[in-house]
Amino acid sequence: MTSLATPSIPVPLPAFEDNYIWMLTGDDGTTLVVDPGDADPVLAAVAGGVRLTTVLVTHHHSDHIGGLAALAKSLPGLEIIAPNDERIPHATRRVDDGERVRAAGIDFEVITVPGHTRSHIAFHAANAGGKPLLFCGDTLFSLGCGRLFEGTPAQMLASLDRLAALPDGTQICCTHEYTQSNAAFALAVEPGNSALLARVEEVRAQRARLLPTLPVTLGQERATNPFLRCDEAAVRITAAARLGRQPASRVETFAALREWKNIFRA
Ligand code: ZN
Ligand code: FE
Repeated sequence: MTSLATPSIPVPLPAFEDNYIWMLTGDDGTTLVVDPGDADPVLAAVAGGVRLTTVLVTHHHSDHIGGLAALAKSLPGLEIIAPNDERIPHATRRVDDGERVRAAGIDFEVITVPGHTRSHIAFHAANAGGKPLLFCGDTLFSLGCGRLFEGTPAQMLASLDRLAALPDGTQICCTHEYTQSNAAFALAVEPGNSALLARVEEVRAQRARLLPTLPVTLGQERATNPFLRCDEAAVRITAAARLGRQPASRVETFAALREWKNIFRA
């Protein structure tokens, strides 16, 4: 279990069917986890010697907060940092856009990213062990994005635009292993994208060995994720084919892709 405590390397603890509870230990030897939908894998890590001090929560869905009660009970003094949303119990601190959070000896900035839910936030570190890092919950996935449960396409696109403006080397840590099914949709949108074809091959090989496809860099996502590529000619052409006319705006391009993805079967 020594890999669990390797400083500054985000470790995905598997939970449920396809969730990852990201765990990150800093140079100071303390550890944070993100979106513990289940307490058990986290408590197993604590039993193995991890010094858990902080929980970061991105949004209120049960597969992201289901473990909070048990963690708060088992670990008195545990800091639980969450957005302003009473649907998330057990928070010891509520944060909003631009606020700074220090966890595992790493400085994070809170970015509000409404769309999947109205109060969804992401945590960005400019320097986590020398590399930028993003915990983005269910907003940005590798080769995809979250469903619009409580937001409009314009809100979600604005949220994705904010994340896409981070440095190319940013390690993207999202909460679900959806990459392979997203890949089929991304290929349908942009069949001629050579960077996408290479990523799909990489993902196929990773999943064949049951390896996580994450973290992925933002630069790689910008080159391959259709939802970050609404300004690309090929993506606009696909959106036009779905709409039966030219999209009137990039929001309309994004909305056409998101609606198609909702019903897409590979
Ligand atoms: Zn969710
Ligand atoms: Fe989720």
